[in-house]
Amino acid sequence: MGRYEVFKPSRRCRLGFNMHPKWLGGRTAGEFLLPLRELGVSVLEFTLDISSPDWPEVSSLIGECRRLGFLLTFHAPYKGPYNPAGFSGAKRGEVERLYRPAIEYAARIADEDGPLTIVVHGAEGDRPRGELRRDTSAFLTWILEEFPNLCPSIELLVREESVNKIGDNKAELVEIVSGLGSPRAGICWDLGHNARNGSKPAPPGFIRLVRHVHVHDISPDGVDHSPLIFGNVPYEKHLRELVRTGYEGAVILEVNGYLVSRFAAAEGKLPSQILKGNLRLLYRVTSQEKGGWNHQEGRFFGGEAAVEGMKSPASN
Ligand SMILES: [Zn+2]
Repeated sequence: MGRYEVFKPSRRCRLGFNMHPKWLGGRTAGEFLLPLRELGVSVLEFTLDISSPDWPEVSSLIGECRRLGFLLTFHAPYKGPYNPAGFSGAKRGEVERLYRPAIEYAARIADEDGPLTIVVHGAEGDRPRGELRRDTSAFLTWILEEFPNLCPSIELLVREESVNKIGDNKAELVEIVSGLGSPRAGICWDLGHNARNGSKPAPPGFIRLVRHVHVHDISPDGVDHSPLIFGNVPYEKHLRELVRTGYEGAVILEVNGYLVSRFAAAEGKLPSQILKGNLRLLYRVTSQEKGGWNHQEGRFFGGEAAVEGMKSPASN
């Protein structure tokens, strides 16, 4: 085999995935996560489902991940009753009480560890868009004003005909985030949702407001949050564009663990093999790394010719 060097060009964005106790499969957090750190994983995202029966286990895993030195990002709860609709009007108190325990949980960690991102969904419902938009802005303003170490990123959502969803288009996200006037506010660019909405071009100002990225694939039968095995989401193009413009936020592989297990079983693999393969792909793309895949060693390599302008000290 020819000589090669593994290049790790300077990288400013951080790689991670959505973490949950079910990933461990009987291993300790360290046994599961330390090999992933070798693949470049430095940040883990947790959904703040604090009313779920799993929450005590999730919370103790959050503690272990912090002790292992991983950075965290959070996803605000969004299922069931969680919806900022009504926040700019009479329902504000009720909505605030609903979200407060989860937001405060994230804020306590941010106060100890330093500023961290919390992904939020905009308001949705059948009320006029203008009202839902005011609710969303008021909700984000509440987080910004009351929790100085939280950086809310409003997520690009999938458009649906039957419901008004704030954030189901990129232009609206630019207007909302620009209107908040805070450098801590940003956009979570979900590249899977982006593809489901037709991969429309980003409007002016969008890219520079992206503070957080979710990546997942869409299966041939349309199931979202699939691992990156179908090629239905052009994530490479978007990630390279972000990296080129100096993106410094997190890139989170946001996959459904059950789907990963199912696809892994169909291919005779372990779920963690699919996870690792996906993370390697994302590491390569976000490093702007050129080169090839060394099957024997299971990692990417870049040769002298592969990385223009970079010279390895060991290559002479
Ligand atoms: Zn997402």
